[in-house]
Amino acid sequence: MFDLKDLYQELIVDHNRNPRNFRKMQDADRVVEGFNPLCGDHLNLYLKLNQDQIADLSFDGSGCAISVASASLMTDALKGKKVADAESVFNVFHNMITDNKLHDAEEIEHLGKLAALLGVKDYPARVKCATLCWHTLHTALEGKEKTVTTE
Ligand code: ZN
Repeated sequence: MFDLKDLYQELIVDHNRNPRNFRKMQDADRVVEGFNPLCGDHLNLYLKLNQDQIADLSFDGSGCAISVASASLMTDALKGKKVADAESVFNVFHNMITDNKLHDAEEIEHLGKLAALLGVKDYPARVKCATLCWHTLHTALEGKEKTVTTE
């Protein structure tokens, strides 16, 4: 039988070993630093906007496998999207990863590859690793250039 959990595990391992959009962006419009002191995850998020569209999105830094895979999957999923659409993906993802509900297949499918990160719900201490880059992006989209910490 096709095992979704194995596929998700593979996605996390792949995106950690070979993170997408892992580079410093020299001409970024906004740079926001994110820090998760509980785990030591530390990243810089680079955002380039073209009016209401995310023209480019990249990150660098260092962190655990979950934080790197999450930033890789996030930048991959949101690059080229409208800012409003990116905000709505952020809201859906954030609700799903922090609530205690079981979600049906349709909801999970809506997230695409990002659903791989929902596995961290079984490890509450790791949820901040997975959401760090998302909070950092949220701050960048709001235009408040600063440092984000999960504490
Ligand atoms: Zn971490």
